[in-house]
Amino acid sequence: MNDIIQLLPDAIANQIAAGEVVQRPSSALKELMENAVDAGATHIQVLVKEAGKMLIQVIDNGKGMSMTDARMSFERHATSKIRTSEDLFAIRTFGFRGEALASIAAVAQVEMKTRQKGEELGTSIHIEGSEVKKQEPISCPEGTNIAVKNLFFNVPARRNFLKSNPVEMRHLVEEFQRVALSYPEVGFSLTQNDMELFTLQPGKLSQRIVGIFGKSYQGQLVTCLEETPHLNVRGYIGKPEHAKKTRGEQFFFVNNRYIRSSYLHHAVTHAFEGLMPNDMHPFYVLFLEIEPSHIDINVHPTKTEIKFDDERTVYAVVRSAVKQALGAHNVVPTLDFSL
Ligand code: ADP
Ligand code: MG
Repeated sequence: MNDIIQLLPDAIANQIAAGEVVQRPSSALKELMENAVDAGATHIQVLVKEAGKMLIQVIDNGKGMSMTDARMSFERHATSKIRTSEDLFAIRTFGFRGEALASIAAVAQVEMKTRQKGEELGTSIHIEGSEVKKQEPISCPEGTNIAVKNLFFNVPARRNFLKSNPVEMRHLVEEFQRVALSYPEVGFSLTQNDMELFTLQPGKLSQRIVGIFGKSYQGQLVTCLEETPHLNVRGYIGKPEHAKKTRGEQFFFVNNRYIRSSYLHHAVTHAFEGLMPNDMHPFYVLFLEIEPSHIDINVHPTKTEIKFDDERTVYAVVRSAVKQALGAHNVVPTLDFSL
């Protein structure tokens, strides 16, 4: 008899999981920004250096963590967001898998300072390749300040695989924009190598769109709104004449989570049929609100794919919402600040 199976040490298990969760700097940024939103922050500041290869820092004014939670947050499968398997079907937060911080800390040097509301002292913790190097009480502002340094410092193959700074920076900006679009009521800023790229004041969705994409979007947005018993659709579509040859300005959010769906994209373009050439891509930012029990977001670790239990109805409602908006756009003034 020859037993050869062993449980992997946590650091290696975390590093393997990291391969799925953290592909590049932008995936780490996504997780950190989502944690800040989940913590109820009203202001989120992002600082990056060398397109995130050297530094990705997210500073929030959310609820912060206790000393023990600060340590626990880096454990795998450690989360405050779900407790039972039933909770999996009622998810309202971005996170629930409890593996983002563990994965990030497995492949980077992480320094976090956090203070809970009402507590006098905060805590500072340094982790490197899953190993806690130091934890101590400190005075710091309420909320959480987490800095991820030298991503993939201990996984040279991954580090070498990273693209040039402009390419990685483009991914970072896209991720930043997605989170910022989904929470217009939260203020965000993005600074690269000490240069401020975006400063977004809290406001309405239409103002956030203009803040991100520029003044030329003012007057080009058509309100989209449809309410059914199972599903609400709201947001903006761009006028057909504003459509572009390149893709990249099409956004679906389901219960505020950015998702990719070529099926739903088709529903939108179908509604635009006949209004613009087939090779053009309309702008849209559409929010779908649906009972969490009717979707499964636990399809992929990055959670950008989801399953609807009734995909065809969702398609029909989205298409009809866009069609109606397009029909109304000749009659009604275009930029409606009611959303
Ligand atoms: P998940 O978000 O899936 O729960 P994470 O690994 O991203 O898993 O985070 C683990 C836990 O750490 C969270 O459940 C939350 O309790 C805590 N946490 C992480 N980031 C923050 C933050 N910015 N502010 C407050 N708590 C946080
Ligand atoms: Mg998380």
